[in-house]
This record gives sequence, structure tokens and C-alpha cells, in this order.
Amino acid sequence: MRNIFFCALLFLILGGCQSSEKLMGTVLVTHVNVVDVESGKVIPDQNVLIQDDTILDIRSADGNVNYSANRVIQAEGKFIIPGLWDMHAHPDDPEVWRMHPKQEEKDRLMPLFVVNGVTGIRDMGGDIKLVQRWRKLYEDGALLAPKIFAAGPLLDGPNPMWDGSVGINSPEYAKQVVDSLIAEGIDFLKIYSLLPRETYLAVSSYANEIGFPFVGHVPYTVPPSEAAETGMKSQEHLLEILKECADTPSQEFMQSLEAVDDRIGRSNQLNDFRLNTFKTSKADSLYGIFKKYNIWHCPTLSMWYKNAWYEEELSKDSDLVDYLPPYLRAYWTPEHNDHLQNRDRADYIDIKKRLYRLYLEMVKAMNEKEVLFLAGTDVGANPLCHPGVGVHNELEAFTHAGLSPAEALKTATLNPALFFDIQEKYGTVSMGKMADLVLLNENPLEDINNVREINLVIRDGQVIDATEIGNIKNSIKMENAYPWKG
Ligand SMILES: [Zn+2]
Repeated sequence: MRNIFFCALLFLILGGCQSSEKLMGTVLVTHVNVVDVESGKVIPDQNVLIQDDTILDIRSADGNVNYSANRVIQAEGKFIIPGLWDMHAHPDDPEVWRMHPKQEEKDRLMPLFVVNGVTGIRDMGGDIKLVQRWRKLYEDGALLAPKIFAAGPLLDGPNPMWDGSVGINSPEYAKQVVDSLIAEGIDFLKIYSLLPRETYLAVSSYANEIGFPFVGHVPYTVPPSEAAETGMKSQEHLLEILKECADTPSQEFMQSLEAVDDRIGRSNQLNDFRLNTFKTSKADSLYGIFKKYNIWHCPTLSMWYKNAWYEEELSKDSDLVDYLPPYLRAYWTPEHNDHLQNRDRADYIDIKKRLYRLYLEMVKAMNEKEVLFLAGTDVGANPLCHPGVGVHNELEAFTHAGLSPAEALKTATLNPALFFDIQEKYGTVSMGKMADLVLLNENPLEDINNVREINLVIRDGQVIDATEIGNIKNSIKMENAYPWKG
């Protein structure tokens, strides 16, 4: 107490006899409302000073400070948030390789993240060499790109679902595969659905032994509770939760399914059975396990939504589609897309919509149990999961599941930083952290859709203002304005 008193006294004496303090930086944002994503509160009327790529100083704008900065941004009435992260992205989705995308077409996805406020992504499966190329192009100032953490290829079973995956034939190869991928420079391992149980256990135990993170699809043969107990750091898309929390179908039921001759009909009936027998009591104890083991969940709600309501969403998103490279414009149609088959079957679409409504309930209940969430879009093969804008859609979907705007905003800012253990440098608007920032015209804590109202983006201290954002978007649109040729 005495110390505090002494400091206050010293401050008054010094303040009284000093002229105004001088502060120098490269960029000064004045009179801005700082969104503190940690407390979910706004700190009004602040001056934020940036030096190169770092936030040098933040203080009340009414202080007696003499600023000198190369660039001053008047931000009265605006709101500043940390740069957003897309924690489930596939800018080089192997599922789309069949469309023969050109490298420069994939490159053009990168700036679309940044101009929409997404300054970091977790690449959940693709060519690691391409990610290394993007990082290099960014460092050389040749391409506006987000920061990228990457999985490299998917780890799948002996007959992988998609091109480009590593199919592991036997548990005995687990160590060799993991070591070789780490040597290639991946940041974490991505487990995939068809990985056989014994191989999953071999991979997870070796990864735990060497302390290397692994995330991904809970495999078909592993319940989510066991994936959590064996340390899968994040689980994607809420996969397999319904199966673990529903009744186990009887042998008679499974035999009756075999008699149904179409695959979609069988899958519909099985999902219908599980939806009807889903037990919230089982789910609650499962969510308790997620909480106990600090397992992150990346539900990609907006992906499920776009899949279920594709036709309606396609007409709403018609302007956004123009920014896509031709191979993606083509792949996001029922003519080519694996996820858009059977759109003429009402029973199939009905099941997708029922699943989505259950996913919202799952996320709500998990949030009440304080399970940790990450915002991910699944941009890539999945239709209408747009680069950048997909994160805004995901945050909106989180609020439909009952998260407050502040809780939703955390899933794309502070939580990704905590997930990667880079909170010293990322995740909040704080002194000493990287200047990856987004200036919004309206308060995102009042309505999460205000993250769409982007005034400018700051990436590593470099300002991309409204004019530049407009120019970048226009040029991407023009460069992409030709028909797809397979
Ligand atoms: Zn994915």
C-alpha cells in the first residue's frame, strides 16, 4: 500500500515538472476503441502506437503525449481488434487437385484472407512445399498472405480418401512417417478418418512420446472420448460425437440396412436412428472429458450450414463467388463437387439440416461446460466456405449456437494464440505484441456481424487501407475472370 502511495506521489511530482512525453513510431492509430477480447470489454478512446511490426504503446488518448509517426490513422468512433485466424483452412485442398488448379490461382487465395481481416491460418492439409513458398513470397514482399501453421499431408489408412494423403499401411510405420513429416517442416500432424485404430494408437503414442501435436478427424474406429484421452489436441467438425452419444444399433437394424440398396438411403436411415436416440446425458459426460483433457474443438459450423442450405446460400453469395479462381468456382457446383451430390433428394437434405441443428445444440452445451473452441471454415473443397469471409460466417454461426459475441470473437483471436502457444505475441491488442490488427467501423461486441465492417487491416505493422483493399479485391476479381478449363 505504501509503495503504491509512493509511486503515485513520484508520478505526480515527475508529471508536474516534466513537459509532455515524446513517443516515436511508424503508425499511430488515434482515438480508437480497443476491443479487449480477453475481458470482452471495450476500452474507449485510446492511442495505439506501432513501431515496425510491433505494438509499442497503448494509452488513453487524453494524455499529454507528443507523438511522432510516419502515418497517422484517425480512428474516432472505430473499433480495433486483433487479426483474425482461420483455424481450419485448405488453401491447397487435395480434394480439388482433380480440377488441375494452377499455382498462381492458388496464390490469389492468400490476399483474400488478409483483406477480410484474417491475418493467420491453420492449414489443415495440403502440399507443405506450397506453404513454404507462400511464406517465402510474403517475406520477399511479393504476395500478401496470412501467417500459416501447416499440417502437410493427411495421415490416412492404407486406401486414403483423398489424393496427396500419406496412407499408413501398418502401425509399425507410424514412427517413420511422423519423423519424415517433421523433417519436411510440418507444424503438427493431421489425423484422418480412415486411419485404422491400431495405427492411430501407434501414431498418437509416438507423437505424445516426442511431444509433437496432433489434431484432426476423430477416426471412424476411435470414439471422441478416447481421442481426447490419447491427447488429440483439437477435434474437427464435431465428427463421431453423434455416434458415441447415440444408442448402438441392434444387429437386426444393421441387417435391415444392408437390404436397402442405395448408399444414401442407408446413411440416411443410420443418421435418423442416431438423431432419434442421441442422449444428452451421454453427451454431457463426453464434454466433461473434453474439458478435463483441455481438448480444443473446431466445429466448422458454417461449413455444415453451407452444405445443408447450399441453394439458398449460393444466391446470397453470388458476389463473393466472383473473387474465386475458376477451378474453385467450378468445383463449388453440384456438377463437380463430392459434397453436393444428391441435391434432388429431400430426405438427404433434411438429414443434413437436422444434423446442423444438433451441432448447434452440441456447441451450446459444450460452451456451457467451458470446452475450448476454435473458429475454422474448412475453406477449400467445401462449397461456399469463402477465404476470409468464411471466418465472419463462422463467428456468426457460433452466436447462433448461443455464444456471446465476445465469446465468439475469442475463438478467432485469443484462442488460436493459446492453441499455438504464441500468446506472448498474438491474440490480443496489447503492448509488445505483433501489430496484426483489424480496424472495424462498428462494435463487434454488440453484433458479431460487425467483423464484416472492415475499415482497414494491419499486417506485421503494414497498413492495408480501404483504397488498397478495394484495389486488391478488384484485381483478384479481374485476374480470375475467365472460364474454368479442366
Ligand atoms: Zn478440413
